[in-house]
Amino acid sequence: MAGRLIVVSNRIPTEGASSGGLVVALHDSLSERGGIWIGAHPDDGPEDGLFEIGSEPYQRLAFRLSKSEYENYYLGFSNSVLWPLCHRRSDLVQLKPVYMESYEATNRRLASMVASVTEPGDQIWVHDYHLLPLASELRSLGVNNKIGLFLHIPFPALADLSILPDPSAFAHWLACFDLVGLQTRADTARCLEMFRSDPRAEFFQDGSVKFGDRLVRIKSFPIGIAADRFRTRAETPQDDPFGAERPQEYIIGVDRLDYTKGLPHRFRAFGEYLKRYAEGRRPCLVQIAPPTREVVDAYRQITEELEELSGRINGQHAELDWTPIRYIHRPIARDRLAGVYRSASACLVTSLADGMNLVAKEFIAAQDPDDPGVLILSRFAGVAEDMTDALLVNPYDVADIAQAIDKALNMPLEDRKTRHRSCRDVVEATDVDIWTSNYLAALDACPGSLSVSDIFDRLQRRGASENVTRKKETTIGR
Ligand code: UDP
Repeated sequence: MAGRLIVVSNRIPTEGASSGGLVVALHDSLSERGGIWIGAHPDDGPEDGLFEIGSEPYQRLAFRLSKSEYENYYLGFSNSVLWPLCHRRSDLVQLKPVYMESYEATNRRLASMVASVTEPGDQIWVHDYHLLPLASELRSLGVNNKIGLFLHIPFPALADLSILPDPSAFAHWLACFDLVGLQTRADTARCLEMFRSDPRAEFFQDGSVKFGDRLVRIKSFPIGIAADRFRTRAETPQDDPFGAERPQEYIIGVDRLDYTKGLPHRFRAFGEYLKRYAEGRRPCLVQIAPPTREVVDAYRQITEELEELSGRINGQHAELDWTPIRYIHRPIARDRLAGVYRSASACLVTSLADGMNLVAKEFIAAQDPDDPGVLILSRFAGVAEDMTDALLVNPYDVADIAQAIDKALNMPLEDRKTRHRSCRDVVEATDVDIWTSNYLAALDACPGSLSVSDIFDRLQRRGASENVTRKKETTIGR
């Protein structure tokens, strides 16, 4: 693999911030290969251009978002348009012309900063929905290096894309990358459906899409966690995170307080479980739900709804010595979470839509294989595509979740062990180190700045002509 790696993400990890598996994996790749990580500094401010916040063992370059960029590019187009759109909540999309203008302008400004540090042979790896137009802006500046995108959230449904101010821009933005990485096979299918519906697209039978003079590959790379490191952390004895307040039996939930996580459904289902099945038992639901994007209206509403629901359910069922829902509206450090997962009887993941859901993988990695807890998993979380031996539920169906809680808490040991083994195989197969190297190998294998006819000729010379077609596929009307 020639050249340096340049990672571009919305946020740059800063010293002291807690690091998830992804940050560690990218850190390892950058350290090994040399390169640069570019992203917005958490503090906004007047700084113009990139400034260095670290140079060992690779360069970390930050930029600051202005107040207007933060409001319109970040909170606006990224989190009040793209986030709900991709998570099937079109009803929450807020359209304002200034959002789209700022989204494109911020990406243009970032592209000029990225271009200024890019050298021939460097490969650029862009992360997530904040930066979809970045490759298009870089191409306009003459950057013809290989550029990959990984979209961490679900790929939107074709019909929902019509909500965007300029729906046709979406396909153009993506086609300017060499490789578009998605979480699941279902995401890949939706992405290909979008290209199929677009008269500008043509298909090669290896799955590549020709779009104007560009060729883009689309493939799923299910992201994972640093499985070994997480398991070791869970196995290492530490102070009891509950202290004197350890519940005898508990179910764990860990989610940013986001409307996509199905938290009200989960609380109602736990209430239903207590009403219908809990005779003689006193399990707790320990729900960790740190606040996120609180200034966006939809997030304020769900915070109020959860406070009201947990108060009502606790009011109905609590005893002097038992509080059924422990609702913690603060972040807990990932190091401490490992131990909390390990001693839980079950974990509840009830996402209504979710790119992957790493909490599910962390819970599985943290379990004792000889006495594992049970993962109750929404079939709408990306992780459910492979983790089919979790207890799969329909998160919209409160009665289904309540029944699954009962089943999990009464599941015989052998059944728990078999399901856990199968889920653990998935966690190991998708370890984040494997994920990073698979993605970078695929980016490396992309033909890059070769023209489409060069690529076609090359394939023909290799005798692969029977596998290649330049015939335009039938387009589905839009
Ligand atoms: N997390 C954490 N502390 C908290 C809540 C969450 O460290 O209080 C971590 C959690 O361990 C997981 C990540 O945040 O690694 C959440 O990732 P996931 O894919 O489940 O959801 P996302 O927040 O990306 O939608």
